[in-house]
Amino acid sequence: MSTLRFRALQEASSRKPVKFEETDRKSVLFGLNVFNQRAMKQFLTPDAYKGVQDAIQHGTKIDRKLADYIAMGMKEWALTKGVTHYTHWFQPLTGATAEKHDAFFETSYDGSDPLEKFGGGQLVQQEPDASSFPNGGIRNTFEARGYTAWDPTSPAFIFGTTLCIPTVFISYTGEALDYKTPLLRALNAVDEAATDVCKYFDKNVKKVTATLGWEQEYFLVDTALANSRPDILMTGRTLLGHTSAKGQQLEDHYFGSIPSRALNFMRELEQECMLLGIPVKTRHNEVAPNQFEVAPIFEETNLAVDHNSLLMDVMQKVGERHDFKVLFHEKPFKGVNGSGKHNNWSMATDTGVNLLSPGKTPMSNLQFLSFFINTIVAVNKYEELLRASIATASNDHRLGANEAPPAIISVFIGQQLTKVLAELEGVSDGKLSPEEKTDLKLNVVGKIPDVLLDNTDRNRTSPFAFTGNKFEFRAVGSSANCANAMTTLNAIVAKQLRDFKKEVDALIDGKGLKKDEAIFNVLREYIKGSKNILFEGDGYSDAWEQEAAKRKLSNHKTTPKALKAKVSKAALDLFSELNIMNHVEVEARYEIELEEYTKKIQIEGRVLGDIARNHVIPTAIRYQNTLIENVKGLKEIFGADYENIAREQIALIKEISGHIAGINTNVEQMTEARKRANALTDAQAMAEAYCDEVKPYFEVIREHCDKLELLVDDESWTLTKYRELLFTR
Ligand code: ADP
Ligand code: MG
Repeated sequence: MSTLRFRALQEASSRKPVKFEETDRKSVLFGLNVFNQRAMKQFLTPDAYKGVQDAIQHGTKIDRKLADYIAMGMKEWALTKGVTHYTHWFQPLTGATAEKHDAFFETSYDGSDPLEKFGGGQLVQQEPDASSFPNGGIRNTFEARGYTAWDPTSPAFIFGTTLCIPTVFISYTGEALDYKTPLLRALNAVDEAATDVCKYFDKNVKKVTATLGWEQEYFLVDTALANSRPDILMTGRTLLGHTSAKGQQLEDHYFGSIPSRALNFMRELEQECMLLGIPVKTRHNEVAPNQFEVAPIFEETNLAVDHNSLLMDVMQKVGERHDFKVLFHEKPFKGVNGSGKHNNWSMATDTGVNLLSPGKTPMSNLQFLSFFINTIVAVNKYEELLRASIATASNDHRLGANEAPPAIISVFIGQQLTKVLAELEGVSDGKLSPEEKTDLKLNVVGKIPDVLLDNTDRNRTSPFAFTGNKFEFRAVGSSANCANAMTTLNAIVAKQLRDFKKEVDALIDGKGLKKDEAIFNVLREYIKGSKNILFEGDGYSDAWEQEAAKRKLSNHKTTPKALKAKVSKAALDLFSELNIMNHVEVEARYEIELEEYTKKIQIEGRVLGDIARNHVIPTAIRYQNTLIENVKGLKEIFGADYENIAREQIALIKEISGHIAGINTNVEQMTEARKRANALTDAQAMAEAYCDEVKPYFEVIREHCDKLELLVDDESWTLTKYRELLFTR
């Protein structure tokens, strides 16, 4: 009985909560390990400080001399905090963050004059030996080098004893190799386009910032238990395991009291977040057992994306201290809720206005409606691209599999706003009569804030829902880097706002309409043209699938199918028109994501085959042998009558043999299917083969294994069971 499973169980169930005491109040801790305004003021010369501020606010270049000064101040600050190393911190397309640490320490060639050194050159640019990061064929091996370059808009921070400098990652030929570069460009595009539209309503607006507030869901599993499951270790999810007798049916976990081990983990996590300037605010249990959520106050999107990536790193590290493995996978356990990462998104002006929040006057509401309706139009036009932006092998378990939300992108706006749009749609063509104007302004637009006050009908099944003062993109996966979704969303809205501006201007200049009239006219046409994307009903229902098909909305349940939209003409045009990505960059990303998909399924297939053959079958045979011994014994005692007496055992022996054969044949067939898929040269075809030819075996093999789990004696089963993974606290 000394199997890994039982040792792990013993270890896990005897653990006490790891002690943790906050060192100070949150407001005191906040940002202490960030090179923020406060630190800059203290450690930079006035010139250097101004240089950084200009770079952050207006994107001005930082010259080499200035960089030297900034680096010097940054180093001084870091040394006061015991830092020994620095690294450029970036987000390659693998989904994880990357770092390469260098010591501050330097000496002369003969070992004399040891000193802590960090110059502008090292701050601004670094060359990671990055030939092993995915690049989708952009970097040929003979010039397999990219470089990282400082992004001053996201402040440097200290983690452990390392100064981390957020950077972009670009190839020497100038193409983006990371998530951040296109995101920054998309944020720029939406800033420009939205600022132009804002000028219709307020000439003082100079900058619009896209805001993001993510909600990170995750599971905690005891490290010992996680380590006893090769599937969790290798793929982040369970590939087999019979569902536990007690699941989430009772819903007693949701908003219940947080178990104390988890609570101490969260407290330490929150303290780390505070030090790093990540403004986390809420913590609670989620629907499934051992599932939790952490969410911050929203921030400027680039910073929020960095903070989410950083958070995921920090969570793993703090998790280790508390003997937890943090599972970010969208579906770690069959039969219990999966995890998502809702992306709450809006736009705010430098004059302090949330553009998706209705105001007090008809004018501010017309502004609200312009941004609100243009977002709907953008999603309608580019729903397929938006779906592609969240497509991963792991997110397929949610989007493609009757779980929240569906693979069909639609927009939920609530009853009240639906009414407002219907009234706006009735606006007459061309010039408005004075009565019409008054009616519109006072009775339709004027009343929006009041109607929104009781807009409480929140549709939990919608992938993209308006929630009072922001849109909530709910289909983003819990393991994703938010940048992918945010680049796409901000790009399509930027493009749409540009088009809107052109159309409104054409009516003003060409047809002599007043500004308000022109805006009303364009919005009316938009409302008529984008009804397809609006849906208020149950997103999981079959009826919606049929209805969506009639509306010709896309419904790609798998990543390989969904990803194609990334390289459609519409997508390529969009990204190049807005200078976000050129064709090479878009195509490279598409290839990388296909490869990523293929690799994930390939690994899952291998791991499943291994576990089924090396854990499940041997265990089943051992148990079967016990049964056989038993039957033999019965035969000895009872002679010819044994068949009657041993009937159940004999049936079991046969049943076990049936499942063993089932596993063996299907693992063999799956391996053959993998070989055929591997022989394909086209990335799209290979991903589709893995999806359609290899993946279907997972369920069949699992089915046999899970049946065996029920048949075989609990004490000899080597794999930690669902009830143990989910209910050990
Ligand atoms: P709930 O939806 O649970 O009622 P809130 O409405 O306060 O809670 O916000 C949920 C999430 O939305 C939070 O993570 C918050 O940071 C984010 N959020 C709120 N306002 C905005 C905004 N203007 N832009 C982006 N995210 C926002
Ligand atoms: Mg939410």
